[in-house]
Amino acid sequence: MHKSGTATVVKNAGSHYLLSELPEWELFPAVLRGKIRLEGAGSTNPVAVGDHVEYVCDRDAPDLEHPAAITSVLPRKNGLIRRSTNLSRQSHVIAANIDMAFIVATLYFPEIKLPFLDRILVSCEVYGVPVTLLLNKVDLYRDEAREQVEAFKRIYSSAGYRIIETSAVTGEGIDELRKECSGKVCLLSGESGAGKSSLIRAIDPSLSPKVGSISLAHLQGKHTTSLYEMYRAQCGGWIIDSPGLRGFGLADLEKDEVARYFPEMLEVSRECRFVPCTHTHEPGCAVKAAVDEGRISAERYNSYLGMLEEDKKFR
Ligand code: GDP
Ligand code: ZN
Repeated sequence: MHKSGTATVVKNAGSHYLLSELPEWELFPAVLRGKIRLEGAGSTNPVAVGDHVEYVCDRDAPDLEHPAAITSVLPRKNGLIRRSTNLSRQSHVIAANIDMAFIVATLYFPEIKLPFLDRILVSCEVYGVPVTLLLNKVDLYRDEAREQVEAFKRIYSSAGYRIIETSAVTGEGIDELRKECSGKVCLLSGESGAGKSSLIRAIDPSLSPKVGSISLAHLQGKHTTSLYEMYRAQCGGWIIDSPGLRGFGLADLEKDEVARYFPEMLEVSRECRFVPCTHTHEPGCAVKAAVDEGRISAERYNSYLGMLEEDKKFR
């Protein structure tokens, strides 16, 4: 029997992959055909979790001794890319074809730094990944820090982001989160300690880092351990857990491009007198006017200025 088709990459460990024909969740092992490695030059991984790939196998049921062969990677809808530094030419695709990235943030325990969050949001905008913010651990601080909670919601909803208040402890917001995940390939990310693992368990208590019936120990390459892996949740979504992010290295953005990835600035900047405008010192800058009038939040604008400064350091 011969088996071939299109499948989604759910795990990568070294040179081995686990695939499944989503929405089915039947995992089978696969390896690359050499040619693809060359096409992915410049990236440390030509095939990432979430990629849609074509495969062939000379038998009906691929197993570890007879894995399927990945013959091509289909064009990506989007892909989150990480560079070690802004200067680095080596890039790593974290995950591809993400329907929704949930970024977990907490106002306390730990306190989210807004410039850090904004950097993650800019990366998602650059790579075309839709975002929903999860304001987690609200059971701990919402009553005590009502004003900060309201301010956070104001800043990010006016920037165009959806915010779900969650608590992995009380279960608040978890039904809404399940609904949002359903039928989607989701990435869950955020600062370490913000509650990613707890939220995953709250969404689906049966989720554990063991997937399928294949012994993953066999798949762990000597050189690479897989940081990114897709799980299927009972609510009918697929979740890619990602380790605590320190902010992605940004792609080579030009100074006058950065504002494009602040959705609320993109709108307003069409009215700036000069093109291009860095929205820092130019006369007739519509973005600065909007900040002065409170239509764009001072916090977001500060993050923007910080990114321009940081950018200087790397050039
Ligand atoms: P991760 O590093 O993002 O995966 O964070 P964890 O899920 O490991 O959570 C870090 C700590 O915060 C743990 O002690 C959790 O029990 C706690 N925690 C996570 N979510 C909540 C929450 O919604 N409310 C409260 N009170 N504690 C939480
Ligand atoms: Zn401007």
